[in-house]
Amino acid sequence: MAKEFEPAPEVQEIAEKLIEIFKPELEDWDIPIKYIFCSENPKKDGRECIGLARKVTGFHAYLAGYPDGLFVLETGLPAYRSLTPNQKIAYVHHELCHFGIGEMGNMAIIPHDIEEFNEVAEVHGAYFERLQIFADAVEKGNSDTSARAEMIKRILDQD
Ligand SMILES: [Zn+2]
Repeated sequence: MAKEFEPAPEVQEIAEKLIEIFKPELEDWDIPIKYIFCSENPKKDGRECIGLARKVTGFHAYLAGYPDGLFVLETGLPAYRSLTPNQKIAYVHHELCHFGIGEMGNMAIIPHDIEEFNEVAEVHGAYFERLQIFADAVEKGNSDTSARAEMIKRILDQD
């Protein structure tokens, strides 16, 4: 069956609250962001994922009615439905981190802070600085849950 797309207002609602709390610059840039569900989970490098952050510029943006470009968060409905409410918020937060502005003021998809293999981490630990920063961040997120609980409450309560 062909892929089917539909608006994703649930994702948009979470995103707008996250932008308010963590990413006000996304509001300031005034670049449209479209949130859509896809009937199939997207694939990245041959691996199924929950969603994909894309920038659309040029010809396709023009056809979509946004000649100056837009960001799109495409979310796989099957994967999204299997997430817990907290995971949904974390997922949307992750994808919003991909939306950025390059050095020339152009729209950019920001790459992940870390790309690594479990096997290497197990053997070599945090063998370069960015890995240690990430390891510290995971530890902070795991131990300091009060800030997260507060934020999640704020997002879910506004419904
Ligand atoms: Zn990502």
